Amino acid sequence: MAGAPPKPWPTGQAMQLEPLVRRVLAPNPSPYTYTGTQTYIVGLGDGCAVIDPGPDDPEHLLALDAALGGEHVCAIMCTHTHRDHSPAAKTLAARTGAPVVGCAPLVLDDSGPRADAAFDRTYEPDRVMEDGEQMTGPGWTLTAVATPGHVSNHLCFALEESGALFTGDHVMGWSTSVVIPPDGDMSAYMQSLEKLQAREQDRVYYPAHGEAVEKPRQLVRGMIGHRRQRENQIVRLLAEGPHAAADFIPKMYKGLDPKLHKAAEMSVTAHLIDLERRGLARRSDGIWRTI
Ligand SMILES: [Zn+2]
Repeated sequence: MAGAPPKPWPTGQAMQLEPLVRRVLAPNPSPYTYTGTQTYIVGLGDGCAVIDPGPDDPEHLLALDAALGGEHVCAIMCTHTHRDHSPAAKTLAARTGAPVVGCAPLVLDDSGPRADAAFDRTYEPDRVMEDGEQMTGPGWTLTAVATPGHVSNHLCFALEESGALFTGDHVMGWSTSVVIPPDGDMSAYMQSLEKLQAREQDRVYYPAHGEAVEKPRQLVRGMIGHRRQRENQIVRLLAEGPHAAADFIPKMYKGLDPKLHKAAEMSVTAHLIDLERRGLARRSDGIWRTI
């Protein structure tokens, strides 16, 4: 979670990031989506994959049509089923005849603070990719890298030809990922960060929100450190006395935009649940205590 982007970002136009990768920004900026959802087109012009088609927004779909220019779409691939990522898959599939592949369907009532991130009920994949499975097209191979945590069905996609990793909401350049329980799981998220840190082949990350990440393992190391620091803070505060989840926020997140308080509280709750599982915290009637 961070402030406003430093410069206007162009929506509606394809930006070439490297020979195999183009990016189109959707017009859905918010405190959670930063400048909006970024849809990626992978391919050299003779058959492509569309990653995270984004919200089912007519303006964004027109921009995608223009960027594709009638090119054959081999696959529409979704990292996860939050509503800012996957709803355009159905419309784009109907227009192009391409199969929807990638993450598993997941429908839960959203009890968290992110109305725009509620789960997409329209998502019906033609093929669910498991960890390590590949999708290929002319000149490209995309491998699924299972990265649960932000949500349980999250996948990243590795472009084998160039060392790019499409990280969805798992790792973003502008902010740490929001982990909202019960589906969002802090220990799974930490394991998924460690999984990426161990991958030496990733040269650059292309997240769904925010700029490309050029030193990805350095960023991931920082994120793991940040989470451990947050956990230590929570353990220290618990040692001082019982806390409701909301009580941690003014002590841990000074100067945070009030719009993001609920999200921070969810993140703290995700840490507390993780500590509870590890036998380091307990709760009763919404009050958390140390063991
Ligand atoms: Zn998400």
